[in-house]
Amino acid sequence: MIELDNVSKNFGDTGVLDGVTGEVNRGEIFAVIGPSGAGKSTLLRLIDLLDTPTGGAIRVGGTDIHAEREKSLSIRRMMGMVFQKPAVFNATVAENIAVGLRFRGASKSESHSRIEEALDMVGLVGYGERRARTLSGGEMQRVALARAMVIEPEILLLDEPTANLDPVSVATIEDLVVRINRDLGTTIVFSTHDMYQGQRLAHRIGVLMTGVFSQVGTPREVFTLP
Ligand code: ADP
Ligand code: ADP
Repeated sequence: MIELDNVSKNFGDTGVLDGVTGEVNRGEIFAVIGPSGAGKSTLLRLIDLLDTPTGGAIRVGGTDIHAEREKSLSIRRMMGMVFQKPAVFNATVAENIAVGLRFRGASKSESHSRIEEALDMVGLVGYGERRARTLSGGEMQRVALARAMVIEPEILLLDEPTANLDPVSVATIEDLVVRINRDLGTTIVFSTHDMYQGQRLAHRIGVLMTGVFSQVGTPREVFTLP
């Protein structure tokens, strides 16, 4: 579903990614694990078309997403992304979730039912009229997840989604990730510096070190010593 083909990224003279190669299969949960500064956010931003690679190619469903620009809008619409810092704007929870739908020309009644469904999915029924910025960090991250999911993406990208959360919120988000994948079949790529989280959630893991995937495999393959 997502092919990373020798992907590199430099910021000026600094090389961050130096030939990342690997594949994310349709329907799996794939973890990008690596220490802080390894380039995890950079890699997810490249997949999400928020930045362009210096070299190599990223293919989604066979399309080279950075080369075939005329297809990038439809590719973008297949993907939802959640950032490390819960990103909600100063409006109600429902308005925050509705943002993704606006561009898709959903009718008001369709938007309304989709928003209700999304709130239900993340366990925030009844929160639609609350101001998003008055919520806890964990709740805000669930709003961000609902916004990403309301468009029914085929691919969900999560950049260290639990990095700033308390343990109970971490468990809630982890549970949601597993349920979204299992119930909706969404392909999920998430990044983490926590190898235990990778082990708990991922079907397969790519270990990002010194600009490349030093290993790609199941948690058992990656964490079992030879
Ligand atoms: P991670 O998510 O694994 O912590 P990042 O992808 O955020 O790593 O960052 C990898 C490296 O790239 C860091 O050294 C960071 O400072 C650098 N970097 C990220 N984005 C930019 C940018 N826009 N300009 C310059 N350097 C950047
Ligand atoms: P507009 O600015 O187009 O009048 P709103 O900002 O009021 O629309 O709402 C955007 C969308 O979110 C609408 O389609 C509306 O149906 C939906 N919506 C607004 N409030 C809620 C809510 N509390 N619960 C569910 N959906 C809502």
